[in-house]
Amino acid sequence: MSSLVIHDLHVSIGDKPIVKGLSLTVNSGEVHAIMGPNGTGKSTLAKVIAGHPDYTVTGGDVLLDGRSVLEQEADERARAGLFLAFQYPSEIPGVSIANFLRAAVQARLPEGEEIDASAYYKRLYAKMDLLKIDRKFTSRSVNEGFSGGEKKRCEILQMAMLEPKMAVMDETDSGLDIDALRIVSEGVNALRGPGLGVLMITHYQRLLSYIVPDFVHVMYDGRIVKSGDKSLALELETRGYDWVKQELAALPA
Ligand code: ADP
Ligand code: MG
Repeated sequence: MSSLVIHDLHVSIGDKPIVKGLSLTVNSGEVHAIMGPNGTGKSTLAKVIAGHPDYTVTGGDVLLDGRSVLEQEADERARAGLFLAFQYPSEIPGVSIANFLRAAVQARLPEGEEIDASAYYKRLYAKMDLLKIDRKFTSRSVNEGFSGGEKKRCEILQMAMLEPKMAVMDETDSGLDIDALRIVSEGVNALRGPGLGVLMITHYQRLLSYIVPDFVHVMYDGRIVKSGDKSLALELETRGYDWVKQELAALPA
């Protein structure tokens, strides 16, 4: 049983506070969705969990299984079992997907331990079958000339191979077309299970009709202002975000 605990997190970019006291717990086996209007700090949250250097944590903590990840380098976070869906080079010409994934899996092994090639390929092919990915795909260069959908397929396959405890996926800025949307949702649904927690960041309600979340949170102005189950996503789809803002405005200061 794993947990990702975000506790009263405050994040600034330069002098500007962006995330303003956000708390959230994701346990393994759960899929949480964070939704919210543009500019509300969703991607900032994802990048801080990933360890992006542009962001300054001014308060609070992010803990994986009780251990703070904030002082860890991005690769240490990955070894601890965090997967961040946007965190790779956009194109690596000349490096096949099979070799790239092999290096990623190798990097997660303890010092001195060597990957077993035949076991690796066996596992790779099993994951590809699970995700219904054609065998020809892994001989292509990473992301080179890929469509949006192919980039997502590469990302989901990487996630399948790394078997993270927690996956944080920011789908907001990726311009998901229908094909990519389908690949992400089928992939997440195939990988979903008791050993994996997912924090799905999106402003596409439509994504959440494919990946049915256990919990939905609305983020506004750097905080989570409302939480519920999947019906909250449907309510947002029909009513937009304005009613959430109006409810907040009506609260005593
Ligand atoms: P969301 O993903 O919810 O749309 P973001 O986290 O991308 O929101 O952005 C939150 C706020 O932080 C916005 O006002 C945005 O302009 C600002 N911001 C994000 N990244 C940077 C950056 N690298 N430098 C300066 N401001 C930024
Ligand atoms: Mg964003």
